[in-house]
Parts: sequence; C-alpha cells; structure tokens
Amino acid sequence: MPTAPAPLRLRLNASALAANFRDLATRAGVPAYAAVKADAYGLGAQEVVRRLKPLNPAGFAVATWPEALALGRADLDMLILHGFTTDCAAAAAALPRARPVLATTAQIAAWATAFPGRMADLMVETGMNRLGIDPADIAAAIAAIPIHTIHSHLACADEQGHPLTLRQLNIFRAIAAATPAHSHALANSAGIHWGRAFSFSAVRPGLGLYGGQAHPDATPHHVVTPEARILQIRTVPAGQSVGYGATWTAPTDSRIAILNIGYADGICRATAPKLQLHAGPQPIPAVGLISMDMIAANVSNLDLSEGDWLSLDWHLPTLGPATGISQYELLTRLGPRFERVWEI
Ligand SMILES: *Cc1c(COP(=O)(O)O)cnc(C)c1O
Repeated sequence: MPTAPAPLRLRLNASALAANFRDLATRAGVPAYAAVKADAYGLGAQEVVRRLKPLNPAGFAVATWPEALALGRADLDMLILHGFTTDCAAAAAALPRARPVLATTAQIAAWATAFPGRMADLMVETGMNRLGIDPADIAAAIAAIPIHTIHSHLACADEQGHPLTLRQLNIFRAIAAATPAHSHALANSAGIHWGRAFSFSAVRPGLGLYGGQAHPDATPHHVVTPEARILQIRTVPAGQSVGYGATWTAPTDSRIAILNIGYADGICRATAPKLQLHAGPQPIPAVGLISMDMIAANVSNLDLSEGDWLSLDWHLPTLGPATGISQYELLTRLGPRFERVWEI
C-alpha cells in the first residue's frame, strides 16, 4: 500500500527536554532515572531515550516489559515499574540490564526462581497504598535476591506542604537507615522540588522532563506543541451556530476554520473553553464543542487558507489548572495520528 502524510504534527523541542533533565538532575544532585513509561508520556519513548541518553541518566523507567522491549535496546539500564511475572521471563532474558521493581512477595519469589542471582529493585509502601511490599518484608527480599535500589513513591508531592509527604520521607529514611548497603530512590519530579532531603541515591523524574509543572516552584521549559490543519473555512452568518449541540452562536458574521483534530487525538472536550490556537503570535479561540476528529476556530480577520497549519497552545502549567485536567492526561492522551517532529 502507498503511504500518506501524517495529518497532524507534534512539535517536540529537544533542547527544552534536555534542559529540563539537566535542571531536575542538578536540583536533585544525584543520578536520575528518566520515566519514559506510556511511550514517554505520549512523546515517543524511543526518541526521548535517544535524546536523553547522552546526558547520562542512571537509566530509564518503563511500566511494563512490552514497553521495555519496544525500546529495542539491550544496552539500556531500565527499571520495569510493574515488576515481574513469570510470563515475562523471555523479555527479561532478552534485556539483561533491565531490573524489575518488584512490588509483591509473589513477584520476588517469581524473580528469584526465574533468574537466581540476578539483580532487581524493590518498591516499598510508605503511605501511598498503591504498589509496594510492606517495609516488614524488605529483609526477606534482600535475603532472596541481590537488590540494587529500594524505591518508594510520593502520593502528594505536587501539593506544597502536604503532611503526607513528610510522613513518607520519615518512613523512607528509616528504611534507608536499616538498609545501608543499598541505593534508595523516592522522588518523582515533584519530590525533587521538596529539596535534597528527598534525593537519597537517585531520583525518578517524568512529568517535569516533558514541560509539565510538577510543583508550584517548578519552571519547566516548554516541550510539546500539537499542530493541526485547516480542512475548511466558511463564513457563518451572525445568529447561526457551530458544531454539535449548537453551543456556540456567531455574534457577528464570522470566518470559522474547521481543523482536523479532536478528542480522539487527546484534545479533551473539557479543554475547549480555554483552548487557544496560533498562526504566528496571534491567539485564535476555539469555538463550540470539540468533535472526535475536528475542532472549530474563529479566524475572522486573519489571513488563513484551507490547508494551513495552526498550532495548539498546549502550555501544560497553564492549561492543566485552567481546565482541571491533569497535565499527565493532557500529555498521555496525545494519540497516534501525530507525526512526532523533533526540533533543536
Ligand atoms: C511515573 C512515575 C514516576 C515519575 O513521576 P512524575 O510525577 O511524572 O515525575 C516516578 N516514579 C514512579 C514509581 C512512577 O510510577
């Protein structure tokens, strides 16, 4: 079959990605594992890895063994955050430098049986009650398996001053003191902004690498800009409505551009009231409801034609709080129709 050009573009700023990694690693003062799970939060994990590798991260964290395999690189130090089950033994054998972050006693037993003597990491529960073994089970794990790094994860580090964060820090400090022969890692992007007490041996930033503002004190560089094309421009007479539900009515005769992007591409309906597009510096408001594959924008008084490209203002620190949608979701929903285009 022939190919056709990608209908959408995701412009990705490589220097901003690198600057965000350097900023977070410098702030933490310890080696950093880059979280590239979920296809690097939607940016494309292979390219993110290729661009971060020269900055010497401690390694890369994915959620699953298929994600690790998809990177196609046996040379990487990788963390598999969902741990290990026996049906993933072939993947683990093919990736000798990957370490599962074991999170249950069953996973620990399965790993010890499948790969006796091979290093793994541990995830320990300190108050999030998501994934991890109880601190009481650490000693048995260390007896069963050579453990590289002991991890835990912060539940509320994105909220300044949240008391659970300090409770988790104290519990993890006690764990670190009891296991002095091992490395320890606690902080995600937000945790890094709580200060060096949270650094331990290594950190695991994700969102902050990709331009998300993980903590009120963070000033990330902007990385991700979606771009879409105008399919049609029509003049909508004053008093007529646009789109499903007829939720927007033209106050005056208006030139309306229909773009080839919608909620199927990750442009959630809830962004519509705050969504701005750009052709150059001029902001262009979206109007009406977002369709599955289309968005309407008011391009009155602008010199635009069918086929022209517009960029969407996907500034996460603004759009997240303005829409109430998590910045993680604003990134990870960006779909497969985009061609990912990296720029310096
Ligand atoms: C996703 C994830 C991270 C990265 O978190 P961010 O908030 O994106 O920085 C770190 N650690 C674990 C265990 C994770 O699951």
